[in-house]
Amino acid sequence: MVSNFVGGYNDNIAIVDLSQNKVNYEKIDYEDKINFIGGRGLGVKFLFKHKLASDALFFGIFVGPLIGTGIPLANRTTLVFHSMLTNTIAYANTGGYFGMALKKAGFDGIILLGESDKPVYIVAKDGTITVESASPLWGKNNSEVIKLLRAKHGDSRILSIGPAGEKLVKLANIVNDGSRSSGVRHGAGCILGKMKVKAIVIPSGYAKSINIANREKFKEILARLSSKIKKSSLLNMETGLFAIYGTPLAVIPLNQNGALPVKNYTLGSMNLAENLSAQKMSKTILIGRLTCAACSVQCRRETATFKAFNFRTEGPDYAQISSLGSNCLVDDLEAVAYMNSLCYELGLDPIETGNLLAVYMEATEKGLVKGAEGLKWGDVGKMIELIKLIADKRYEGAIFSEGIHGLINYLGDSSLDTSVANITIQNADPRAEPAWGLLNATENTGSSCHIWVYPDLVYSFRNLGMKCLLPNDPNDYGNIAKAVKFKQDLVCVLDSLQMCAFSFMAFDIVDYVDSLNAVTGLNINEFEFLKIGERIFNLERLYNLKFSSKHDYLPYKFIKIPNEAGRVCNIEELLKHYYAERGWISGKPSIEKIKELNLLFFLRQH
Ligand code: SF4
Repeated sequence: MVSNFVGGYNDNIAIVDLSQNKVNYEKIDYEDKINFIGGRGLGVKFLFKHKLASDALFFGIFVGPLIGTGIPLANRTTLVFHSMLTNTIAYANTGGYFGMALKKAGFDGIILLGESDKPVYIVAKDGTITVESASPLWGKNNSEVIKLLRAKHGDSRILSIGPAGEKLVKLANIVNDGSRSSGVRHGAGCILGKMKVKAIVIPSGYAKSINIANREKFKEILARLSSKIKKSSLLNMETGLFAIYGTPLAVIPLNQNGALPVKNYTLGSMNLAENLSAQKMSKTILIGRLTCAACSVQCRRETATFKAFNFRTEGPDYAQISSLGSNCLVDDLEAVAYMNSLCYELGLDPIETGNLLAVYMEATEKGLVKGAEGLKWGDVGKMIELIKLIADKRYEGAIFSEGIHGLINYLGDSSLDTSVANITIQNADPRAEPAWGLLNATENTGSSCHIWVYPDLVYSFRNLGMKCLLPNDPNDYGNIAKAVKFKQDLVCVLDSLQMCAFSFMAFDIVDYVDSLNAVTGLNINEFEFLKIGERIFNLERLYNLKFSSKHDYLPYKFIKIPNEAGRVCNIEELLKHYYAERGWISGKPSIEKIKELNLLFFLRQH
């Protein structure tokens, strides 16, 4: 299988012990590159080994072998940690320019361990790390932090937390370059807050070149991939549907199929969904399109308004539109965009925040909120007030800080729950989209899948001209389970290469395999490539079996209360087929599967 690793890596993982104020640098084991590649795969391997040895906090920031080479859409950064929100393994995946900068500054990853006794920030430059005092930054909102750090370090790439992370609000997030965090969930900001790390900074001037093993083949692949993007009816920057409209493109098809989250998932569509649509955004608050490193697609949105609200920001993506918008019965795009930018400022996960506010609204309607006036559907003014209180952990806001389970315990009605493992299902209703139910029930991180990472598992998107991995019959649970397993494994490898998963709208598996082989010097085939993904997914599962109590389920709302079409999600039946596909017994990888995937080391520790 292996020829040699000649390219793709810096062979440099920095390990920062915050309690001792020491930094060590490690090369990546040859076996680890073969088995886990980078990014998410390397993250779970390092986290697992660390947890076996120590209870100290762990926060890993990883990139992969394709970043910095010029392969289109290779730009993601994966953050891996044990979530205080879900009590599971968690990974967050963010695009933009941070990953490229980290790689070109001479790293494959940075691992933070333990807790500092005072606020600090991390500077990564020329393959070395320095730890600097963040006392002047503590308490500041994200935009101010970015401004101050750039004034000191020049035009840097920055991950930072806001006041919510500092106050250990469990749904706090990390913001990428001040205004991007759609893929950063699971309370990543809470972990950094606990470590007292305000930011990770990569100052400008990063320019390390990355070795390519087979330049000839690499050139051919670059030409092939660029041509596929140009020809794509979704990703071509001028004519592609997804490129033109971005993730908000999802609003209308999901609404038409009864799968849009509306009123805390009590409904699957709303009359005024048009007001939240991508088309409406283009005509109103959209001021530009943004992109990530090595990407011509420009699916990211830049919005601004100076009318009722005053902001200029990135987003909202579909995920925030459906949580802060339709799920709370808000049909004002300008208000949604403003609340999204406010969450970024304060360092809150806007998706989780919106879905929790929707729970509170349903509870208010049911008369369950005692001693406070609660929150009415669509009450934007009160939502804004509450967002500030949640970030500040004060008054009514404090009951949100432990996440949805804490809120529901307080309200005393478990039928309000829309989560798995204390993180809410985002994007779509599993009663209308059965694969979405299975996916969210079985993810090792709890229910937090991004719909555009799995558009081929969504019936509502069939008319948008993308691949569909699902059978025609939505009751064909065997083939739905097969499709979910396949895509989960594929996404594990993409998250390890650090490719944007949207690339699968135009690329085929052979394109990723050829890219990996040409860059690194490996010589693997498509079967071996997908096996790496399966190995990573199974190792995450073994991690949870040892360090978490997470099991596979969907909340009552989706399995017992029929939607408007009279459907519930038959998760029991789906899980039976899924476990058979995976070679698992009651949600646990069998000994044979563990041996097949070369995970015996972890089995012995387990
Ligand atoms: S497709 Fe969109 S999210 Fe993906 S790399 Fe390009 S701009 Fe970024």
